[in-house]
Amino acid sequence: MNLFEKDKTYIAGTYNRFPVAIASGKGSLLFGEDGREYIDLTSGIGVTAFGIADEKWQAAVIEQVGKVQHTSNLFYTAPCADLAELLCRKTGMKKIFFSNSGAEANECAVKAARKYAADKYGAERFTVVSMKNSFHGRTLTTLSATGQDHYHELYNPLTPGFASVAASAAGLDELAVLHLKTPVAAVMIECIQGEGGVLPLDPDFIRALAAWCKQNDALLIVDEVQTGNGRTGKLYAYMNYGIEPDVVTTAKGLAGGLPLGATLLGEKVKDVFGFGDHGSTFGGNPVACAAALSILSRIDDDLLDGVKRKGDFLRATFTGAKGIEGVTGMGLLLGLKTTKPAPEVLAACRDRGVLCLTAKDKVRLIPALNIPDELLAKAAQVIKDVCAE
Ligand SMILES: *Cc1c(COP(=O)(O)O)cnc(C)c1O
Repeated sequence: MNLFEKDKTYIAGTYNRFPVAIASGKGSLLFGEDGREYIDLTSGIGVTAFGIADEKWQAAVIEQVGKVQHTSNLFYTAPCADLAELLCRKTGMKKIFFSNSGAEANECAVKAARKYAADKYGAERFTVVSMKNSFHGRTLTTLSATGQDHYHELYNPLTPGFASVAASAAGLDELAVLHLKTPVAAVMIECIQGEGGVLPLDPDFIRALAAWCKQNDALLIVDEVQTGNGRTGKLYAYMNYGIEPDVVTTAKGLAGGLPLGATLLGEKVKDVFGFGDHGSTFGGNPVACAAALSILSRIDDDLLDGVKRKGDFLRATFTGAKGIEGVTGMGLLLGLKTTKPAPEVLAACRDRGVLCLTAKDKVRLIPALNIPDELLAKAAQVIKDVCAE
């Protein structure tokens, strides 16, 4: 059996993979099992923040693997505490709960909201309101938080206590009406809906939601799983709007390619969890935390300026280009509305050595934060050519 056949035979059929087998990579280049070379504008869906086999990241991982790879959360380890301190220092949040994925980070946020609301207002205040067209993960609870019906249909009954409202000014009215019927414990947003098609929420709407939450003592949970860790040109996307979330969740790029989720707890919820209230065997694993320390400590103003500059370059390249009807997103999380169907654009780009993703009907570009300018320019030209044909 070749690799494709073996995978199809033995792996559960949940992924419609591209016909490419990756053997290795370096920076923003990926090398196929067949020897082909690709410019990577996917970064493992925003995970390999500094590309493949980044030397400092690799050294940090190898050093920690050589010391201790896992201890359980019954013991203290330095990388875990150091990373929590760095996250708090860079955001002003107060405490961190570590897990292994975006869904788990969101699961923890929902638990924090439910516990905060129940402790303060009683058991009938539990509803978590998300936005229509949002994406918050694949566990049953985070699917319930996800405001897209097609993700729900297969898995009823879902976790109760969720509702979704329009991700626009109309959503504020819906929220107010809902709050009268079923008190709202928390509102959960992505500043840019990534899986939903790289759709930024209106900044005024984001600020109005934040104000509503403050007024009503509902927690504002910002899901930064995709938008976080430098992706939009700020450390976290919410920092573009001058808001102060109560809970921030992140994962994907945080550890640069190792599984790590983090739920950042603000002043209101910093002490919401006591001993035994939540936990994770692997969460805060020292290797993943050492990897994240290497990434997070290097997301500085220089790097963020580079993300903005590279994003502006892509925007300028694609705006008004033939076959490209619009550009959405921020920094290095961009969506292209193309005249040709996005999957056709992806396939043609792949044939010419450039890997991109889709998000709904868009072509999604989400390269490593440090992709070299020449590679980015080369890849952008390929996309432009493909769209124009
Ligand atoms: C990817 C993603 C998740 C889920 O993360 P996993 O690590 O796959 O569980 C949640 N929220 C957003 C916004 C995401 O982009």
